[in-house]
Amino acid sequence: MIDLHIHSTASDGTFSPEETIYAAKKAGLTAISLTDHDSVAGIEQAQKTALQERVELIPGIEFSSKKDHFDLHILGYFIDWKSQKLEQILTDLRQSRLKRAEKIVAKLNSLGFKLNLGEVKVKAKDGAIGRPHIALALVKKGLIPDVKTAFDLYLANGKPAYVEKKILSVKEVIYLIHELKGLAVLAHPGLIKATPERLKHLILELVNLGLDGLELYHPEHTDEQRAFFTALAQEHDLAETGGSDCHGLAKPTGFNIGSLNIPDAILSELKNRLHTSG
Ligand code: AMP
Ligand code: ZN
Ligand code: FE
Ligand code: FE
Repeated sequence: MIDLHIHSTASDGTFSPEETIYAAKKAGLTAISLTDHDSVAGIEQAQKTALQERVELIPGIEFSSKKDHFDLHILGYFIDWKSQKLEQILTDLRQSRLKRAEKIVAKLNSLGFKLNLGEVKVKAKDGAIGRPHIALALVKKGLIPDVKTAFDLYLANGKPAYVEKKILSVKEVIYLIHELKGLAVLAHPGLIKATPERLKHLILELVNLGLDGLELYHPEHTDEQRAFFTALAQEHDLAETGGSDCHGLAKPTGFNIGSLNIPDAILSELKNRLHTSG
């Protein structure tokens, strides 16, 4: 079994890159991908442990993007993660994440929460800073009972402490992933708030930009959604992938590493595309 969507402390997961490998081993997985938001900083660390533990590590990343007001997350697999160009782009994205965190903290302050950026940075360590870190800092200070409440009341899109983050366009993301010799997969399409007809059109547009696959297995997908996107993947000859989207303690247990029993064949199919996509 495999798990192709995992966050570590390089972004907003709470397990170190090494710990994700140990957890994968414990869950009996043969392969995982680290897919941190705007960061490949965990890959080198994870690689060493992966070799020791004989768990295959697929270098990955997760980019946030938008199309026609729909939030889209794009996963990049098998990317040349040592690329200079990538590092420059990621440094820039992470710097704007820091500025955005500052703005979110200011909004929370004006809402009466006594929180400072330093307390959020403690949660983020050196990783790409995100809303889960802010939520965790609020919970740690006893200002809000849990992460979910922090999102539901303040941090989610449309809530009083929400601030947009800098993103690349889907075209930029897909082209970048291809330039890095990787495969571009639309993450958790079931979370896109669009009608089935709109989703079909959206995915067609992404296919025209070069999208390589759809994430079918995700803890927040219903069986109906998986069936719907499987049909679309088949229609457009897209790879079928999946993962737990584990964030360690920053998300509930349903998101645990290896929780979805994803078959190894998914990974072999993905690799086949790598060889045929030139
Ligand atoms: P950011 O990159 O700062 O925009 O934060 C995105 C992260 O927040 C993603 O990893 C999501 O899984 C997480 N997230 C988004 N909405 C929620 C929510 N309602 N509860 C918990 N985590 C969430
Ligand atoms: Zn995340
Ligand atoms: Fe995501
Ligand atoms: Fe994710």
